[in-house]
Amino acid sequence: MKFCLECAAPLKEKETDGFTRLVCTASDCTFTFWNNPTPVAVGLVRLGDDYILARNANWTEGTFSMISGFIEKGETPEETIKRELKEELGLTANQLDFIGHFKFDMMNQLMIAYHVQASGDIELNEELVEFVRVPHQDLKRFDFGNLELSKHIALKWLRNNHASC
Ligand SMILES: [Zn+2]
Repeated sequence: MKFCLECAAPLKEKETDGFTRLVCTASDCTFTFWNNPTPVAVGLVRLGDDYILARNANWTEGTFSMISGFIEKGETPEETIKRELKEELGLTANQLDFIGHFKFDMMNQLMIAYHVQASGDIELNEELVEFVRVPHQDLKRFDFGNLELSKHIALKWLRNNHASC
């Protein structure tokens, strides 16, 4: 971002409270670009004995990850997961268990991750081009490619729920 959203004057970097922020250069404007991370809800989807991972239409071949989506105004992360699961995979989310929250610095996002017990028949929408069914015992070895955060989330779930996986 280069220009102030309030008055269109140029922005400049300024150190405040230990953070480097963009502030407006106009003397009569107090605009600060806070650049807060965007919350994203992420679902590690389990359907029967398998985990369902999908490839986004914008991703290179061989790249699969969990279902994720931006949280809409007024939604809880759980509601986002339920909505995204229905929209993108045609599945119903029956039970959600919180895995944790994870920083995704590269995208300035805060990932809020859940394990999702789902049911239904998979029907991909246009955002996804393919999916894989990973037997639950193979998830630990699944290659998420460059999606290290996805792997990290999956492994955290497996570590915390050893008995059921
Ligand atoms: Zn301004």
